[in-house]
Amino acid sequence: MKTIPFWTEQFPRPADLPSHPLPAQVDVAIVGGGYTGLNAARVLAQNTTTVAVLERHTIGWGASSRNGGMATVGIKAPVKVMIQRYGESLGKTFWQASLEAIDLIEQLVQTESLDCDFQRRGHLALAYKPSHFATMQANVAWYKQTLNHHTVRLVPPEELHQEIGSSSYYGGLTDDYSAGLHPAKYVYGLAQAAARHGACLCEKMAVQHIEKLAAGYRLHTSQGTVTAQEVLIATNGYTDRLVPALKPKIFPVGSYIIVTEPLPLALQEKLSPKGRMFYDSKNFLNYFRLTPDGRMLFGGRNNLRTNLDLHESARQLHQRMLQVFPDLTGIPITHSWTGQLGLTFDLMPHIGRVNGIHYAFGYCGHGVSIATYLGTEIGLLLAGKKQSSPFAEIKHQTMFFYRNHPWFLPFAAWYYRFLDWLS
Ligand SMILES: Cc1cc2nc3c(=O)[nH]c(=O)nc-3n(C[C@H](O)[C@H](O)[C@H](O)COP(=O)(O)OP(=O)(O)OC[C@H]3O[C@@H](n4cnc5c(N)ncnc54)[C@H](O)[C@@H]3O)c2cc1C
Repeated sequence: MKTIPFWTEQFPRPADLPSHPLPAQVDVAIVGGGYTGLNAARVLAQNTTTVAVLERHTIGWGASSRNGGMATVGIKAPVKVMIQRYGESLGKTFWQASLEAIDLIEQLVQTESLDCDFQRRGHLALAYKPSHFATMQANVAWYKQTLNHHTVRLVPPEELHQEIGSSSYYGGLTDDYSAGLHPAKYVYGLAQAAARHGACLCEKMAVQHIEKLAAGYRLHTSQGTVTAQEVLIATNGYTDRLVPALKPKIFPVGSYIIVTEPLPLALQEKLSPKGRMFYDSKNFLNYFRLTPDGRMLFGGRNNLRTNLDLHESARQLHQRMLQVFPDLTGIPITHSWTGQLGLTFDLMPHIGRVNGIHYAFGYCGHGVSIATYLGTEIGLLLAGKKQSSPFAEIKHQTMFFYRNHPWFLPFAAWYYRFLDWLS
C-alpha cells in the first residue's frame, strides 16, 4: 500500500502546466494554489487584472488534489440552521448558492474544456440509525415545499439495494443534483485555464511575511518579493499565522482516504449501481464512491487530528469499509492518504477582510463546489464586477478559547464519537 494520494499518482501535474517566475509587481497576489485561489485568479485575469498565485508546494498540492471529488448539494451548516440563524431570505440564498456552485463547475467544464471526469449522477445520504431515516422522511417534503428543490427522493430500506450493495443502513435520501469529478484533473485544469487567461502560477513559493506599504503590500516569499495592491489569502485548511488575525477564524481538521485496486465491473455495478456519491449520517461520517476507473474510495475522519499514521488510518477505514461492503473482503488497498479541511465555528464558508487583506475559506468539507464558487465570487468582487456577496455579509464567529492551537479538538472528537455511539 502506498501512502501517497491516489489522484495525483494517477494524474500527475501536467508537464505543460506553466510555472512562472515571481513577478515584481501585480494588482492582486493570491496565497494558495487550490480551487479558491485558482478560480479567483481565473476571474481576475479574465478581467485584465494582473494576478499571481503563490503556492508553497506545487499547484493543487493541498486539499484540492486530495479530496473525495464529491460535489454535493448544501453547505456544512444545515439549511434549516441557516434559515433560523440568518433569516429565510439569506438562508435560502446560501442554499441556492450551493446549487449554483455545482452548476458553475459544470459550466467551467464546458467553457474551459476541463477534462476532469465530471459526472452528474447524484448522491445518496445513508441513514446510520432508524431515527436518522425518520429525519430524512421529514426533510424530503420540506425540501420540496420550502426550498422548491425537487431532485430529492426518499429511499426506504427495502429499496436500498437499487442504490447500494450494502445492508448496513436504515434507508437513505438521493439527490440527483450532486456530481462527482477527479480532483487532480479538475485542479490542474483550473490552473491551465487561469494561466491561459494570463495569471502567473508561482510554485514552491512560500509566502513568509506580508508587509503593509503606504499603498498596497509587499509579500516576502521563499524566492524573493512581490508588491501587490491587494492580497487574497486562499489557504483554507492550511491557514497558518501568516496573517495572525485570521488564525482564530479557522482551524484545520484531518480527513483520511483509502482506495482499493480497480474492481471487476460486476462488483462495481453491485456496490454502486447508479454511480452515486455516498455519505452516511454519522457525526464522524464516512464518504465513499467509485473512482472513474472503478476503485472503491472510502474516506472519513477517524479522529479530528491532522497527523494520524497513514497505516493506522487505513486499518481503521478498511475495517469500516468491510462492515459497509463485506463483498470487498480480500480486495487489496492500494493507497492511503490525508489532507486538511478548514473548519469554521459556525460551519459556514466566509469571504472577509482583516487589516485590508482579503480571505475566502471555511468550506468544512464542501469545498469542491463551494471553493469553486467563493473563489469565483471574490475574483468578481476584486475585479469590481460585483459589489457584494452574501458570504461577505455574515458575522464570522470566533471563540474566546481558540487563538492559535486547536487544543479542543480531542475533546470535540470524544463528544462526537459519543453522540454516534448513542442510539
Ligand atoms: C481528504 C479530503 C477529502 C475531501 N473530500 C471532499 C469532497 O469529497 N467534497 C468536497 O466538497 N470537499 C472535500 N474536501 C474539502 C476540499 O478538498 C477543500 O475544501 C478544497 O479543496 C479547498 O480548496 P482551497 O483552494 O481553499 O484550499 P487547498 O486546496 O487546501 O489549498 C490551499 C493551499 O495553500 C497553500 N499554502 C498555505 N500556506 C501558504 C503560504 N504561506 N504560502 C504559499 N502557499 C500556501 C497550501 O500549500 C495549499 O496548497 C476534502 C478535503 C480533504 C482533505
